Amino acid sequence: MTSNQDIKQLAAALHWIGGQQVQGTAERFGEVYNPSKGEVSGRVVLATVADVNAAVAAAKKAFPGWAATPPLRRARVLFKFLRLMEENLEALATLISQEHGKVHADALGELQRGLEVVEFATGIPQLLKSEMTENVGTEVDSFSLRQPLGVVAGITPFNFPAMVPMWMFPVAIACGNCFVLKPSERVPGASLEIARLLKEAGLPDGVFNVVQGDKVAVDALLDTPDVQAVSFVGSTPIARYIYERGTANGKRVQALGGAKNHMVVMPDADMDQAADALMGAAYGAAGERCMAISVVVPVGEATANTLRAKLVERLARLKVSHSLDHSAEMGPLVTGVHRDKVKGYIDAGVAEGAELVVDGRDFKLAGYENGFFLGGSLFDHVQPEMKIYREEIFGPVLAMTRVPDYAAAVKLVNEHEFGNGAAIFTRDGGTARHFTASVQIGMVGVNVPIPVPMAFHSFGGWKASLFGDHHMHGPEGVRFYTRLKTVTQRWPGNTQAGPEFVMPNMK
Ligand code: NAD
Repeated sequence: MTSNQDIKQLAAALHWIGGQQVQGTAERFGEVYNPSKGEVSGRVVLATVADVNAAVAAAKKAFPGWAATPPLRRARVLFKFLRLMEENLEALATLISQEHGKVHADALGELQRGLEVVEFATGIPQLLKSEMTENVGTEVDSFSLRQPLGVVAGITPFNFPAMVPMWMFPVAIACGNCFVLKPSERVPGASLEIARLLKEAGLPDGVFNVVQGDKVAVDALLDTPDVQAVSFVGSTPIARYIYERGTANGKRVQALGGAKNHMVVMPDADMDQAADALMGAAYGAAGERCMAISVVVPVGEATANTLRAKLVERLARLKVSHSLDHSAEMGPLVTGVHRDKVKGYIDAGVAEGAELVVDGRDFKLAGYENGFFLGGSLFDHVQPEMKIYREEIFGPVLAMTRVPDYAAAVKLVNEHEFGNGAAIFTRDGGTARHFTASVQIGMVGVNVPIPVPMAFHSFGGWKASLFGDHHMHGPEGVRFYTRLKTVTQRWPGNTQAGPEFVMPNMK
């Protein structure tokens, strides 16, 4: 482990304000880890309120010019950014893997999904086209406009250092807003690369800013009257807090929270397809995905027994390795603290009486003994009242909760506090249709385990997985980042009505 003195010598990730890297006034620093090695690899400055105010002021200054820039020209900057990102994909994926621990192919995957939102946002001239009605009254026309809000902020989690920021800022800036990003202090690197490439693409200084930091920075963004809207993605307690504090301060807020995603497996499902899907959805990215499947719900004892055998067989082959091993299927967890928290959940499951069929707690990788690794774990006979069923674990732990019939499966899913994603595996169209229609969940898959909507649709859960009215990116993103204005106009010269004293109605 690196000594305290050595850590102080490490370079720190800085803020990006007004088109350049800035150290700001921070006296506090956070530690960034290399999770595969289990050691500190860098530091990050933690913003003061003054640093946040400087970023917001830079954004506010840039806003009038950027809002007045024609959408087509804003789109051209994004086209160039897209090209630059594509040229830098390998380096960006390596950076993400090193700070986060996810395997290289998965880091490339998150970049791809993020860039799809940039592709969507390049269509902004089309997306901002408004509605117009000629002759709402005699020689009176009416049309609507979608105008930018001003300075908007994004606060993002550790598990997608590039993709989740890209759910937000491409749409926000395409709509004419200026953006302040507060990335997770555990993975600061990608945000600065993005800022650098946006500048290289021709984005005017101040349109995109980054403040590194923790709660101090978040609270400053929530409290300043110069931020009009806040997009948040993270855990449910913080999402609820962000929503309440942000809206109390008069801001527009979309706050996406945690999850406990169920996959219902019907007796008629293709069991190999279901087992393969579960392996990727439960153990990919070490379970550190808000759309990971953490509960499998087999319908009937025979389904459960077959699926359990197939999962045990596949778990024995799961390749866990360091994040730069390109053959790895699963890497380490993000920090030692998080690894220990996940281990604590496994201990709790055993203590509560669930059957731990596969135990990943003692996994060690040769040569990387200090890395934050766990193997994949599988529980069977998990009951709804158990802590490992109720709470989000956010690690490579899959719980099997057996149910006797389809109705019991739907009831189980619907009664859970979270409502992010759910999937059903079946060959029966009627069952699938009933499930998609009646399940109380924001994103639903049919024989698709991780139904993350594409960039031109919108992403968001229900219940305790989202606070606010708008989902992210796609058409909902455009609505979130713009304000609607409706104009009714008449020109002098033709019809002159004279004064009217009754409620106006068009003739
Ligand atoms: P987190 O809630 O700890 O942190 C998210 C952000 O909030 C970070 O930027 C962090 O600095 C900030 N923050 C943390 N504590 C704060 C506090 N007390 N006050 C103000 N701000 C605070 O989440 P995380 O551990 O980084 O990410 C994992 C969580 O994110 C999981 O719960 C996961 O389900 C969720 N997530 C949800 C989605 C979704 O789309 N619903 C997507 C990705 C991740």
